Formats: sequence, structure tokens, C-alpha cells
Amino acid sequence: MAHLDAYNRPISYLRISVTDRCNLRCVYCMPPEGIPWRPHEEILRYEEIETVVRAAAELGISKVRLTGGEPLVRLGIVDLVRMLSRIPGIDDLAMTTNGVLLSRYALALAEAGLKRVNISLDTLRPERFQQITRLGRLDDVLTGIEAARQAGLEPIKINTVVVRDMNDDEVVDLARKTTEAGWNVRFIELMPVGNGVLAEGERQNVVVTAKEIRQKIEAALGKLEPAKVSVGNGPSRYYRLVGAKGTIGFITPISEHFCYHCNRLRLTADGQLRPCLLSDQEIDLRTPLRQGASVAEIRDLLLRGIESKPLQHHLAENMMPGSRVMSEIGG
Ligand code: SAM
Ligand code: SF4
Repeated sequence: MAHLDAYNRPISYLRISVTDRCNLRCVYCMPPEGIPWRPHEEILRYEEIETVVRAAAELGISKVRLTGGEPLVRLGIVDLVRMLSRIPGIDDLAMTTNGVLLSRYALALAEAGLKRVNISLDTLRPERFQQITRLGRLDDVLTGIEAARQAGLEPIKINTVVVRDMNDDEVVDLARKTTEAGWNVRFIELMPVGNGVLAEGERQNVVVTAKEIRQKIEAALGKLEPAKVSVGNGPSRYYRLVGAKGTIGFITPISEHFCYHCNRLRLTADGQLRPCLLSDQEIDLRTPLRQGASVAEIRDLLLRGIESKPLQHHLAENMMPGSRVMSEIGG
């Protein structure tokens, strides 16, 4: 049974950033030159991550997601998946990736016990893809999506951050993919976190709300019906176009926060437990891990994190976390 926090929310989900490094430089996430990477010795080793996940499982956390930075750039990531998938109590092991390296790893990840992937994709146009990610090729991601499907890493969800004048003219094309290709597409409101170019002063004007996205889709493709989804209990609300195999989801951290249903903790690549993505409160797990802390001792620290989880974030009042960028926390 998942533990309840101080506001009676069952905490069942741990997101782990396995690296702060990335092979892309998405404009809303990183500056063109990247961020100064943390030295290797500051990043949790796989055995240390395993200890944290064992402790989490003892507290009733059953769902783990590996993210980053880009999780697939970390050497030996398939080994980590294998280690974590064998931990009793972890029944949903997933990954969020930009998909660039997925065609190379999909099968091995599935064989090692990964259940499914979320793939970030903001555009279907090759040139625009290169502009948004600065370093990537759209074809690699499309091949990655197909490889994930063939490997059975399903249901695949496509995460699309919508930014005004960047890709808001493509929401209908992306929504159409739920009918044409059975994709599950989730539209995400831009959060004012990070130090990409969009994080400077223009942030406020570039957020496109879920309401606006929905109106555009319905005007072009017809009414969205509420949809039930079998996997995932995250903050998304799901809908379906009539006759579509795939679903359309909206993640609305800005226009309609979902904090009252938040079920998650986060672990940064350098071993800090963050009870809330958007609060700078952190509990250091790396130091005790390196001093030889047992699973039980780490479990007690996780419990402290659960008990101190804040009720909600304050982005709407313009209060932003300052200490880290998204690629360090993992989104
Ligand atoms: N590199 C992987 C990827 O892109 O999927 C995993 C890490 S990335 C930080 C996780 C998710 O956060 C991606 O879907 C990305 O689009 C999203 N993201 C990054 N910066 C964001 C921001 N400022 N607001 C909203 N979502 C953001
Ligand atoms: Fe890398 Fe993901 Fe950030 Fe893009 S959103 S720069 S892929 S970490």
C-alpha cells in the first residue's frame, strides 16, 4: 500500500533523472551551448539508484520512470533497467526519452524489463524539428517510435510541449496522428523552468493553454470525447476523437494545476530527493548512500520526503523554483 502524505495523497510514483546530459538542446529546456554537466562522481551510480528504488518499493511505490537529461545517453542504461525491473513491488517501469537513440535500444530495453516509453516530439516537420532541438533529426525519432512499437513498449505516449509561434500551428496535425497512426498524444503547457532561450523574459507570452489547444483541435477535427486509459495515473486528462485508436491528453501545470492529485517524488541525477518538481526543497540521499546507508535508512529519508511534500506549487503567482533546470530534475 502506498504511503499517504500530509494531505492524504497516496505516493506511489518515483521519477528518476539518471543523467543531466543530453544529445539535444531543445530551445525551452537548454541554452545552445548546453549546461555545465555535473562531474561523474556527483552522479548516482546504478547500485545507489537500485538502493533508493528498493527503499521506495518498501514504502509501496510501485511505479518508476527513468528520465533525464536524456536517459539513453547514459552508458549501461539497459543494465540499470534490468536491475530495477527485478525489484519486487516495482510493477510499472517506464522511460521518458527524446527517442533519438531508441531504434538502437528499444528491443534490449524491452527484454531487460522496461514496460513502456513516453517519447517527446514537438513537431512533424523536419526543418522545424532541427530548429527546436538544435541538434536532432526528425527521422531518428520517427524510426525510434516504430522500434518501440515493434518491441512492445506500449502504450507509447508522445509528449508535445506547445509554445506559441514555435509549434502551436501543428496541434491539429499532431491530433490527427491519433486517428491515422494510433498515437497517444499529450499536449503539455510550457513551464517557466529552465534556462533555454524561452526562459528569459518572453515566457509569459508563449504559454498556450490546454483550452486553446482543445478549441483548435475541435474546430478542425470534431468534438473530443472523454477517454478512459488503462495505463498511467499521471496528471493528464484524456480524450479521443470519434473513431480514433489513440488518445489526446492535456497536461496543464499552468492553467489548471493538478497538485491535489500529485502522487510522485523525484530523484535528481546527483541524488537529491525532490518532493515537488516546482519547489526547491531537497533531501540529500547521495551523502548517506556513500556513507553506506542501508535500504531501511534510505526508506526513512524517503518517508521524510513524503511527509514534507508541499500541497501545491505557486507558478500562477509567478513564484518559480530557482536552483535547477528541467534537464537536471527530469521533467
Ligand atoms: N530528454 C528526455 C525527453 O526530452 O523526453 C527526458 C527529459 S525532458 C526534461 C522531459 C520532458 O520535459 C520532455 O517531454 C520535455 O519536452 C519536457 N520539458 C522540458 N522543459 C520543459 C518546460 N520548460 N515546460 C514543460 N515541459 C518541459
Ligand atoms: Fe534534452 Fe529532453 Fe531537455 Fe530536449 S527536453 S534538451 S531532449 S532533456
